[in-house]
Amino acid sequence: MELREILEAFRAADPAKMKERYLAEGKKIVLTAPVYTPEEIVHSMGLVPMGVWGADTLLERSKRYFPAFICSIAQSIVELGMRGTYDGASAIVIPSLCDSLKVLGQNWKYAVPSIPFVPMTYPQNRANEAGRAFAKAGYLRVIRDLEAATGAKFSTDALANSLKVYNEHNAVMRRFAREAGKYAAVSAYDRSAVFKSAFFMLKEEHTALVKELLAALEGTEPASGPSVVTTGILADSPALLGKLDELGLRIAADDVAAESRQYRTDAPETGDPLDALAAKFAAMGDCSVLLDPSKHRAAMLVDTVRGTGASGLLLLLTKFCDPEEFDLVIIKKACAEAGIPFLSVELDRQMVNFGQAETMLEAFCERLD
Ligand code: SF4
Repeated sequence: MELREILEAFRAADPAKMKERYLAEGKKIVLTAPVYTPEEIVHSMGLVPMGVWGADTLLERSKRYFPAFICSIAQSIVELGMRGTYDGASAIVIPSLCDSLKVLGQNWKYAVPSIPFVPMTYPQNRANEAGRAFAKAGYLRVIRDLEAATGAKFSTDALANSLKVYNEHNAVMRRFAREAGKYAAVSAYDRSAVFKSAFFMLKEEHTALVKELLAALEGTEPASGPSVVTTGILADSPALLGKLDELGLRIAADDVAAESRQYRTDAPETGDPLDALAAKFAAMGDCSVLLDPSKHRAAMLVDTVRGTGASGLLLLLTKFCDPEEFDLVIIKKACAEAGIPFLSVELDRQMVNFGQAETMLEAFCERLD
């Protein structure tokens, strides 16, 4: 395929169409909510994991279950569930890494009873023996619930194979994240589409398409102009991406939960595969929903801006996201001490007026080299 066709294929990975395609192929679909849902287990059981991160949509029915100050990712997942958007899925796995996700799981049981809720309970003290044992017990519960909901069977051999598939995908996504900002052909919108489509495609298919894209990009026109590092939970707002492209602001790297954060850590490919998954979770860090008393994320972001030669740091704050709000002050202070231009923009899935954010981005862009 030509470069344009490949980029268009990522943009065209519509979740509704992908769901219908996989169902027509006789596959069963399991919804995977943010963040760090153990997709490898779902994949190893011959099921199709499809990421659900909510949508830019009006909240109506879900208001019966949530107070207004819960983030719109959690609220819009329930809204779409109640509307029937996910009909045909066999289960939903929801981890418990923040208060909103805990509430999401409990509300889901009553709001969308037709799609069984499978909880994944993670430990926060994850890098010691007890933490790894706790995470492994959580995975065993997921396996048991998925077997009951789908009739599929788990095997450690199949999981070992899925770990390899996911590690290969992690590596290709890390490479894409490094390369994307170097080429003029990859707009902020295209970059987002590549990350977003990974939630709706089997990883083998997505890995092959990203490899094709990287090969097609070689030798094309290099990008120019200022660049930023982005950080936050979500960065798929069309209004935001359109504004970045209009300003010619490239993304040199990201620390976004729905983008690179999930691909930073591989599972070891030796030993018991469930222990390997627990080891992968134990090794994760630099994330607002994972306990880190030292808050190393701020130093990591300063290093990333310097290492990539980016001109500033753009924090995309999901409205009512407590974990990110706690980190914001620390990150802002670290940037001020390092002399790095910093901007925080609040985003909401219900945002109808992006005007104020646009003005802030224009002023920020004028401060960059
Ligand atoms: S956006 Fe924040 S509050 Fe909402 S689910 Fe994600 S981490 Fe939790």
